[in-house]
Amino acid sequence: MSNEVRETIILGSGPSGLAAALYAGRANLNPLVITGNEFGGQINTTSEVENYPGFSGETGPELVEVMKAQAERFGAEIKLDYIEKVDLSQHPFKLSSHGTDYYTKSLIIAVGASYRKLGVPGEVELTGRGVSYCATCDGFFFRDRDIVVVGGGDSAMEEAIFLTKFARKVTVIHRRDELRAGPLLQKRAKKNEKIEFIWDTVVTKINGENAVTGLELKNVKTGEIWTHQTDGVFIAIGHIPNSDLFQGQLDIDEQGFVVTDKRLRTNVKGVWAAGEITDSVFRQAITSAGMGAAAAIEAERWLGEQEG
Ligand code: NAP
Repeated sequence: MSNEVRETIILGSGPSGLAAALYAGRANLNPLVITGNEFGGQINTTSEVENYPGFSGETGPELVEVMKAQAERFGAEIKLDYIEKVDLSQHPFKLSSHGTDYYTKSLIIAVGASYRKLGVPGEVELTGRGVSYCATCDGFFFRDRDIVVVGGGDSAMEEAIFLTKFARKVTVIHRRDELRAGPLLQKRAKKNEKIEFIWDTVVTKINGENAVTGLELKNVKTGEIWTHQTDGVFIAIGHIPNSDLFQGQLDIDEQGFVVTDKRLRTNVKGVWAAGEITDSVFRQAITSAGMGAAAAIEAERWLGEQEG
């Protein structure tokens, strides 16, 4: 247990956290990055990253390793630990993991969001092998294939429309007989000749040994069960921001995103949020990294003002 007070602690080790670490490191803040249980965040599960400027074709894990090494070169300390409790009512702020208390003058929250999972057999095992949660990341690998999108919201329609650029056919599987997506996206999806819909149907299993070969489906109204052959399935059934830790201490919107102003400030002075914990719109590694950098610039300025 240490009572050392850090200038800044960054929670989360995805692109937003590591970009914040680079900027805070270069500002001589000696930042501590607490990684969470899964180093690297969502991008760490991406097989090839082709949409991060200056980085082409390597894997998600390679991208986060490069970002980590660059941040460390400028003094960032990366610690594998998982914060279970925060106290933002006292300053310095107190963060507690299972065995350690951390104290910090400023805090950048970059703990991201998790894709909502279907929770069916095969989903975890085949993630990155035909199961994807990100059409922008992985759509390119399904050129001329028949693929499936699960979900009926705006994200699912956007994913389906985007995937028609590559796929031969995109089948949207939705658990009800009407979409949740807004009228504009619905219209665009329904008039796209490459998109077909299977209504009132849920996925009960994803088939495949080393790669997806098909889905077990069930019509929730008739009870009919059948196998749908496909090479890939994009699951777009919403995101869950990892904001539970901050409930009751920070302003959080009804979807669970931490509320910030344009400068990424939360309602608690000295606390910023960056990346998918606060972003319900863009959700890209590059936009998250930009937000992380911005939050670190803000933190440095604020700490300077406090000293002044
Ligand atoms: P969402 O609106 O929560 O939609 C999730 C969809 O997945 C719903 O159709 C839901 O079915 C379905 N679903 C949820 N859990 C499921 C499960 N276990 N099995 C099968 N289906 C399941 O999520 P989203 O589409 O990611 O959108 C999130 C927010 O971002 C929304 O406010 C949306 O408007 C916004 N957004 C906007 C845009 C845009 O305007 N361009 C783009 C993307 C996202 P039910 O319909 O039956 O509940």
